[in-house]
Amino acid sequence: MSKEAVAALPQRAREVVEYRKSGLSLNHVQGCPLGCAFCIRHTYDLWDADRPRALMSDGEAVEQLVRHRYFRPHDTPLQVFNRATDPFLPGVRGHLFAVLEDLDRRGLTNPVLVITRGFVSVRDCERLNSLANVKVTLLFTYSGIDDKRIEPHPSGTAVRSMRLATSYGPRRYRTIFYWRPLVPGLNDTTAHLARAVGLSRWADATVFTGLFYRDEIADYYRANGLPEPYEETARRKIVPETLEERILAAFARRPPDAPPLFRKTSCAVSYAHGLPDYNGHYGIDELCDICPAAQLDRCAQAHRVPTALQLLEAAGALPEATGMRVIEVTERAAEVEGLPSEQPRYYLQHRLGFQVHDAAHPHRRRRHGRAAIGWESTNG
Ligand code: SF4
Repeated sequence: MSKEAVAALPQRAREVVEYRKSGLSLNHVQGCPLGCAFCIRHTYDLWDADRPRALMSDGEAVEQLVRHRYFRPHDTPLQVFNRATDPFLPGVRGHLFAVLEDLDRRGLTNPVLVITRGFVSVRDCERLNSLANVKVTLLFTYSGIDDKRIEPHPSGTAVRSMRLATSYGPRRYRTIFYWRPLVPGLNDTTAHLARAVGLSRWADATVFTGLFYRDEIADYYRANGLPEPYEETARRKIVPETLEERILAAFARRPPDAPPLFRKTSCAVSYAHGLPDYNGHYGIDELCDICPAAQLDRCAQAHRVPTALQLLEAAGALPEATGMRVIEVTERAAEVEGLPSEQPRYYLQHRLGFQVHDAAHPHRRRRHGRAAIGWESTNG
């Protein structure tokens, strides 16, 4: 893209490095033709960008990433193209490998998450497997949604890619069955759950999660006459309590040696690489009741409750966090206020391997950091 075209993009779209919950995310290629109605692109004012375009060279983008104040070599979890395009689209794949191979040549061992619903080939698996340093995880997004107005791209593509990538071996990278977005009434029948249980054996682990139903996405649903999944929007993902119970029950019937199910992306990614959860969810003990014993043990060994002083010292590296105040630190999480956005909070969470919550958006017990919608018993 020309400098003028980049300057004309919405401000958030121009920020190609952004901290998201599961990692520091690089997004210098933007635009996607797959047309999922619930796409997060709506919230970046990029919905009309249906053709992938690079805002800068891959080399410049990697430099921005590794020079970013949030980046810590060998530590910060990274994500490539998880906001505005699919990394395995024909025009994007080359950029993906250029980034991965550049990071790898630098000897960096950071975790790198690559989320796709696209076509992955044997050649792709070979290239991924030749990366010697970065810890790559492929997360295959599968919803099972049959309504083509909501998700025009067939879920079968991701399933074929996942089976191929998981069967390839021996391999250094890991695979996740990324079952999302789950929406009551759309893809949660008993048959949908049974299908997902069957597919879960084709990955190293499974994560289930709900829908980000933000205002911009709701506006799009209404303007296009799509069936609205919820009566209200929320800043967090929505997974109603009864849906979660049905999912856990369906997965509980699998053989004991089946790949495990997780509620949190970082838990599944960390498990797949034999590491403790990099988001420090272990303190929120009700999240861990479905986790394998060996993984629980890993997280328990790594669990350190930081002091308020350690939190303030870590925040001291960030100019935007100078106004942060620590309200309370418990075994579960630290509660802070005064941060201007989510991004420094994610930095602190990863840096300390411990949950850091914003007092303005309290986390309720048993709701697992999700929206209140569908959780009547723990609202408040
Ligand atoms: S023990 Fe808890 S925090 Fe650790 S991976 Fe399992 S669920 Fe996540």
